Amino acid sequence: MSAIKIESKTNLDRRDFLTKSSIGLAGLAIAPGMMLFDLAHGRALDEAVSNKVRWGMLIDNNQCDTGCNDCVSACNTENGLAPATKPTDSQWIRKVQLKDNLTGHISSLPMMCQHCEQPPCVDVCPTQASFKRADGIVLVDKHICIGCRYCVMACPYQARSFVHEVLTEQKTEVPRGKGTVESCTMCVHRIDKGETTACAEACTKAGHNAILFGDLNDPESAISKRIKSVATTQIRADLGLNTGVRYEGI
Ligand code: SF4
Ligand code: SF4
Repeated sequence: MSAIKIESKTNLDRRDFLTKSSIGLAGLAIAPGMMLFDLAHGRALDEAVSNKVRWGMLIDNNQCDTGCNDCVSACNTENGLAPATKPTDSQWIRKVQLKDNLTGHISSLPMMCQHCEQPPCVDVCPTQASFKRADGIVLVDKHICIGCRYCVMACPYQARSFVHEVLTEQKTEVPRGKGTVESCTMCVHRIDKGETTACAEACTKAGHNAILFGDLNDPESAISKRIKSVATTQIRADLGLNTGVRYEGI
């Protein structure tokens, strides 16, 4: 098998959040007038998020268009992020270049928080602001994040960003704050309404269908069936983190 080197196109970070108390239980208010609920699984408004499901995404490098940036734009729009113009800007998803060292072939694919089952970011957090929901989504509670950035250093995927600037015009469903760390939330505010992620939706809309979102625990889900039928991999599988984001065609 040829060696593949991953080269970051932008070398930017990313981040996430929502409070444990607000997203840990479906049906609790996440903002005045807003409630969480799960249409996809018929979860009652007062029913806790369950480990019966494990949300994940499968990204097909064969389908990803090197020149397309729609997933990045969709993530920015969905979550209220300004397009990154400098390395210190938050970016929750980025396109990275893959170079086959034997053939020289260059391709690209989206890279975001991998929603590790064994997340190093959670292990090193001194305040437990970094945490993993029962359904596998890894988040940051911005209310108790002290901005130490241990998690930024611990993440093998450069998936987290630190918010350096005062933020304005934030999305109600995606609270953010200066001095805290953030990264891809797996669009938890959409998932809890039974919707798919914004990046997957944009990729499908563009006709590439490179991002498949679904329940890794459900053997009947499209993502599980796909993983069973084709060769897929985890980036840095050697770390044993059991990522929720999987890749095909690399
Ligand atoms: Fe944490 Fe893994 Fe996401 Fe990095 S990729 S922020 S270590 S869950
Ligand atoms: Fe951004 Fe949502 Fe995709 Fe994560 S799942 S990269 S937050 S659009």
